[in-house]
Amino acid sequence: MEASVVSLRLLNCARILVYYDKGLEIRFEGDGNRDVGCIPGEKGVLQAIKRAGRRSRILSLIWGKLRWYTTSSGLRQIGVAIRHLGWTVQCPFCGWRGSSFYATSVYSASTPNRPNAICPGCYSKKRHRLLYLYLKQQTNLFSEKLRVLEIAPGPYSYRLFQTLPHAKYISLDYESTLTMCRGDITSLPLPDASFDLVICYHVLEHVVNDRGAIKELHRILSNDGLLLVQVPIDRDVTLEDPSVTDPEDRKRLFGQEDHVRAYGKDFVDRLVEAGFVVQIDDFAATLPDDVIRRYGLTHNELIYACDPDHEVQ
Ligand SMILES: [Zn+2]
Repeated sequence: MEASVVSLRLLNCARILVYYDKGLEIRFEGDGNRDVGCIPGEKGVLQAIKRAGRRSRILSLIWGKLRWYTTSSGLRQIGVAIRHLGWTVQCPFCGWRGSSFYATSVYSASTPNRPNAICPGCYSKKRHRLLYLYLKQQTNLFSEKLRVLEIAPGPYSYRLFQTLPHAKYISLDYESTLTMCRGDITSLPLPDASFDLVICYHVLEHVVNDRGAIKELHRILSNDGLLLVQVPIDRDVTLEDPSVTDPEDRKRLFGQEDHVRAYGKDFVDRLVEAGFVVQIDDFAATLPDDVIRRYGLTHNELIYACDPDHEVQ
């Protein structure tokens, strides 16, 4: 009988046996090639894939994804993906291309809807894509062996620093699962002058003791170091009230449930107080319109480039 069988291995968990005389048979093997099941006949193929999915992590993921795409959420996601097919915009982090980036409403119904905002490939936002271009054009991150610390990394960060094997990169966050180490920004577990570049984007508005955090960022930067920092700014003078702790009140006053203040243009004063020499860089204004369109950027996205200025202190 063995002579009448053609055997094909399927993802290390099953073999497809094609009998010349009896048709198709799929035989499952567990760890150590132990046979754990057998479904004969052509009709058993779908059932066989399902059973194989229970035994193989890869097939299980594929099967779960296929089932999700038959749900209303999955069908909606397919519709969104089809509507965004195209080549008009491009993500500098992951290379995703489409007719436009996804609106924020695709991911969250509770935040204000902003069109052309989020990359579906790596979840970069406008400010992150602008940061990428800034790092590429205004720093030596892509050519020199820099020590880099990023506070509160995102999925796009992993993509960037994976392409820069020469950079010594550490990410830090209070609770994110994406981070390489956990820590409190107001008491960084890092030595003095140990980084050449620190990226701290949209973090300080969540930190009660933001002045303490800025001091820490100043402490860990080397003499020639650079801090790139951004916070949301929507007014002239910072609105702050430590007694406001209720999430609804914070949302009403500061714009988001987990924001502890609403920064104004006087944000720069807190950086200067800590010893930084600050350049408020309107980098987006220097970019041609076709670059703004291609990377889904926006004007009015200021980057605070801060020199620790240790040598004059
Ligand atoms: Zn992307």
